[in-house]
This record gives sequence, C-alpha cells and structure tokens, in this order.
Amino acid sequence: MEQVVVVGAGFMGSGIAQVCAQAGYRVHLMDVKREALDKAISEIQWSVERLSTKGIIKESPQTVLERITTVEDLKSAKDVNWVIEAALEVEDLKHEIFQELDRLAPVETPLATTTSSIPITRIAQATKHRERVLGLHFFGPVPMMDVVEVVKGEKTSLEVFERGVAFVRSMGKTPVRVQRDIPCFVMNRIFSAAFKEAVDLVAQGVVSPEDVDVGMRLGYGWNAGPFEIADNAGLDTCILVGRSMKALGEESLVSDSGLIERMVEEGRLGRKVGKGFYQYTPEGKRLPYET
Ligand code: NAD
Repeated sequence: MEQVVVVGAGFMGSGIAQVCAQAGYRVHLMDVKREALDKAISEIQWSVERLSTKGIIKESPQTVLERITTVEDLKSAKDVNWVIEAALEVEDLKHEIFQELDRLAPVETPLATTTSSIPITRIAQATKHRERVLGLHFFGPVPMMDVVEVVKGEKTSLEVFERGVAFVRSMGKTPVRVQRDIPCFVMNRIFSAAFKEAVDLVAQGVVSPEDVDVGMRLGYGWNAGPFEIADNAGLDTCILVGRSMKALGEESLVSDSGLIERMVEEGRLGRKVGKGFYQYTPEGKRLPYET
C-alpha cells in the first residue's frame, strides 16, 4: 500500500488525510499538537460516517479510519511515497519543515505543500532536491471540494509535476495545472481580488456579508459566497495568508480596512469557533451574526 505523510492536522491537513485514506493510501498524520491530532481524528470519523451513510464512500468508515495513524514527529517520512505539508502559512516554519523532510524522505518521494500564497520556488530553496518540491493547493473543506491546483516551481521536474497530476486524480479530484510559479497561484489570486473588494464594501457599511453572499450565489452562480468561504477557511488563516501576500508584494489583493483583524481580536475566527462573519449553531447551521 502506498504511504503518505500529511504534515499539520488542522482544517486542511485533516481533510487531506481523509481523502488520501479514502483513496486507499496509508496515512501518517503529523502535528506538533496532540489536541490537533485528536480533533482531526474525531472530525474525520464524523465526516466518513456521514459520507458512508449517504453512500458516497463504499468502504466502511472503520476501514478508512484504520489507514490513518497519528504521529508527533516527521520520522515516518523515511518510508513514504508522498509528503503533503499543510502547516501554518508562515514561510520560516515551512522552510524548517521542508529542510527536515528533505533530509528524511527518500530522494524519489515528492514533497508537496498546500500553501495558499508562498511561491513553491521559495519553499524549495530550503531543500537540496528542489526538483521534487511542488504545490498541491487543495480547497477546503477538502472532502467536499473537487479541485486541486498542481503548481510547478522553477526547479520542479516535469516528472514530479505529472506525478502530482496523477496523484490528485487518484484521490478523485480534478487537477488544475499551474505552469508558472507566482504568489497565490491562480484560483487564490482571483478569489482574493473579489474578497478584498467584498471586505472593503462591508467595512464601509455599503452592504452586509449575507447580502454579498446571496448576491454572488444568485448573480454569479458561486456555490458559496466569499464570506461563507472565509468563515470555513478560518479568519486567523485569512490574516496569515494576507500577511504573506503583502510580504510577497501582493498588497493590491489584501484589504487594509482592518475589519478581519478586529474580528479575530474579538475571537470571531469563523466556523471552527461558532462565530465569524456568521454565527453557527452547535449542529453547524449558519445564521446571520448578531451582536
Ligand atoms: P490550521 O491553523 O487549521 O492548521 C495548521 C496546523 O499546523 C495546526 O494544527 C498546527 O498545530 C500545525 N502545525 C504548526 N506547526 C507545525 C509543525 N512544525 N509541524 C507540523 N504541524 C504544525 O491551518 P489550515 O487552514 O489547515 O492551513 C494549513 C495550510 O493550508 C496553510 O499553508 C494555508 O495557507 C493552506 N490553505 C488553507 C486553506 C483554508 O481554506 N484554510 C485553503 C488552501 C490552503
């Protein structure tokens, strides 16, 4: 059975571990925090049970869950066919992780990152074998979203890039090939431009988040509005991504209204804590935010 290490067991890492296990890979899910690993396993269990009840996955939830092992260090990278890093959006942290992964993982094992904004070429600079570093930019919630950008860094070999495309397909997802490495890649640049405008309009009191989301659903056929997407992603993660984008010279894609920063200071981090642009019932139902 092919093996995968997923580094980081937060919103993205837990979803990536789940879809890899559903596709038949043996998964080592790694995080530095035990609580993150425990939370990830209980969320994966909840999700595979739901998918099984709906008949979307044919195997028993138990069979899928048994393919996932949780670990608190990177040693298991020694024996794996794929590595996917999904730790925090902090460039220095990603450099440290890739340096260690490059030392531990067999040289033929591709090292993928699901960064939202940092060019793959910059992350690859932490490694000696830059040809095996690529971007696999998943969308969240990963079990529900069927697209992954496969990003080629300057030094990524064509062979590794094509293996990335095949790997994405093996998880039942559709690859979008990003052939040149630019900050935020393609989908996130387009989303960020729309999100920046949406945040600015809300901050100026022109419109409510709910009305923007309804408008984008009905007017442009989006499946979810920008504020629903941001609440799912986590507003703390939005701040980290925004900071990274600014550091990369992409200020034009980031709102400087300070609205999201104020919300995070008030503890409104999004769906994961039950309040963000919306508030959420314990069953996960979304309601307008009331002060
Ligand atoms: P998150 O905050 O939910 O999870 C990050 C996890 O990384 C945490 O559990 C944390 O404990 C762990 N971590 C921190 N340091 C670590 C280390 N040294 N080794 C291993 N784990 C470590 O964040 P997230 O939303 O899952 O985002 C993860 C990555 O995916 C980021 O690069 C982000 O930009 C990218 N991304 C996020 C989204 C989204 O919608 N949230 C979408 C696409 C890509």
